[in-house]
Amino acid sequence: MRCFDAHSDIWTDVTDKRMRGETNVFHNHHFENIRRGGVEGSVFVVWVDTSGDEDTARRTHDIFRCVKDEIAETKDFRIVKTYGEMQKAVEEGVFYVFIGVEGMAYASSDPTLARLDEYYDFGARHGILTWNEKNGFGHGAVSGSTEGLSALGKRAVLRMIDKRMIVDTSHLNEAGFWDIARIMDGRPFIASHSNCRALCDHLRNLTDDQLRAVRDANGCVGLNTWYEFVDPDPAKADIHRLADHCEHMIDVIGIDHVGCGFDFCDYIEGMYDRDSGNFYMGAAAGLEDPSKIPSFFDILRERGMREDELAKIAYGNFHRIIKEVIG
Ligand SMILES: [Zn+2]
Repeated sequence: MRCFDAHSDIWTDVTDKRMRGETNVFHNHHFENIRRGGVEGSVFVVWVDTSGDEDTARRTHDIFRCVKDEIAETKDFRIVKTYGEMQKAVEEGVFYVFIGVEGMAYASSDPTLARLDEYYDFGARHGILTWNEKNGFGHGAVSGSTEGLSALGKRAVLRMIDKRMIVDTSHLNEAGFWDIARIMDGRPFIASHSNCRALCDHLRNLTDDQLRAVRDANGCVGLNTWYEFVDPDPAKADIHRLADHCEHMIDVIGIDHVGCGFDFCDYIEGMYDRDSGNFYMGAAAGLEDPSKIPSFFDILRERGMREDELAKIAYGNFHRIIKEVIG
């Protein structure tokens, strides 16, 4: 089964390894698993860790530079900026990447929104206003705040609509989510990598009411394999439990609004637990890296899902949104 993965942090790995002098990071560390898993394309995000004292401007520009160098070097993926370019890559069998932004701390300190334009000019066609932090646009899901978007954050959403960028609510707190739902006013928006609060009560997951709001906007929610969002008990956070999230989403909002945003972290140093063999800290057991994706679809088949339904979840629903929003 083809698969479109709507959320990946591979640019982080590309940047970290290139800063240490490596080249061809995607080819050497990622492409094989992606190919084995049937992944045909993805959103790779520009993400700045705001949990420490990282200089967001410097890190953002380090990422831009490293990604540019990687793009100039690679034969294994192609950056796409439109639905048509994506289709052409699919026809040619070339792995395609949309550039996204996960957390706009850097842009949110600029009241002119010129830094938001800078993401777009870099090639980004997708964005999330915050990561886990509070920034000038809004408040992350785990920030502890119940405040919604700032006035500037609301203008940023309007700017993204003008530029036909996909607006993503994953990581925002609930008040920010509802502000976006109101501003979008029926236009599609997504939650690229969030599961169901009903099955795993984590602030990064969505309530059934939030799921319905995404459906009402003809949007899509991406299933996430990060263990904390799969089950509160790490021992129970496995690929079968993630399939339960998929079924719950379908029960609540239907087959046309569920997709994949797996958020694989297999390459992040420290995630691999050498003492316990193949267990990767951080991922639901059985879905630790992109090569395991076919097992996930096999489970859905075993539970009675038809191939046409599976295709919607695997790529069709997010493709529909790319066509409608980015064009
Ligand atoms: Zn994330």
